[in-house]
Amino acid sequence: MGSRLKELIPKPRSKFLRVRCPRCGNEQIIFSHATTRVKCFVCGTQLAEPRGGKAKILGVIVKELE
Ligand SMILES: [Zn+2]
Repeated sequence: MGSRLKELIPKPRSKFLRVRCPRCGNEQIIFSHATTRVKCFVCGTQLAEPRGGKAKILGVIVKELE
């Protein structure tokens, strides 16, 4: 028996991110594994790009939410 190192490494979990738009300062919640392009509700600037897994966040991540 004995613990395995594998179990000590947390699996990549999806979560929600509070992201600030670099253009207008609007903050909104974005899913970390967004599968579609996410745009700012206010000015339309793209804030997240889908990457077939964890999305690339183009805005400023203010906070990570569980
Ligand atoms: Zn904006």
